Amino acid sequence: MSEQAEIGVIGGSGFYSFLDDVTEVTVETPYGEPSDSLFLGELAGRRVAFLPRHGRKHHLPPHRINYRANLWALRAAGVRQVLAPCAVGGLQTKYGPGTLLVPDQLVDRTKSRVQTYYDGHPLPDGSVPHVVHLGFADPYCEAGRQASLAAAREYGWEPVDGGTLCVIEGPRFSTRAESQWHAAQGWAVVGMTGHPEAVLARELELCYSSLTLVTDLDAGAETGEGVSHEEVLRVFGENVGRLREVLFNAVGKLPAKRDCGCGNALTGLDTGITLP
Ligand SMILES: [Zn+2]
Repeated sequence: MSEQAEIGVIGGSGFYSFLDDVTEVTVETPYGEPSDSLFLGELAGRRVAFLPRHGRKHHLPPHRINYRANLWALRAAGVRQVLAPCAVGGLQTKYGPGTLLVPDQLVDRTKSRVQTYYDGHPLPDGSVPHVVHLGFADPYCEAGRQASLAAAREYGWEPVDGGTLCVIEGPRFSTRAESQWHAAQGWAVVGMTGHPEAVLARELELCYSSLTLVTDLDAGAETGEGVSHEEVLRVFGENVGRLREVLFNAVGKLPAKRDCGCGNALTGLDTGITLP
């Protein structure tokens, strides 16, 4: 691939559509098609690849996103650091709509998604990924988290530093009982797309961190009718401009040279495959 990038942003067209000189690049992967083309552009002197997580027409529900293809495509394009914004529900009343939270932990409550590249199934090139077990105690790149936090503070949008993102299967929202249970664990926010993105990124030795925007209070934290999709879209629409500003600022704050350890996640392991 001639067009290369170093930083990936997984998010919708609201983030890249107004950039100058955006190049659309189609990437094929051993895992099938990514959600869409990559859209490559330049920001703060860095080459950035944007990937619309749900497809540019937003036609893919969270459980049907080809997460393996998405992360593989980004790596194949040269990306080594990924910023992953996502809309979430607040599980605690103190995290109401408009809260920007940079999680430091994750709980996986998804059910049907392929979570690994190392499953023993041969790739089209004949190589066979071995079974490997990676450390995942701290699921996010700390350098990426700090870049997002610093960018938000600089913008004047005080972020919440840390908290647990609970990822549910969707596409439905939680029942009130599920939501109350999640909240009772002390978890901060709930979403549908932050996993298995995070672990797949680790398996490809990519830096990955999430930047969550609270669009609603989840069913267990509010006393009304529960979450509606319209409400989520409205709050997201109201905040997408400043979320984009923070993201773009964060891109420029990512270290040019990685020394965070994410790039050594597979060191010493015989994976059986060669990463792109
Ligand atoms: Zn890292």
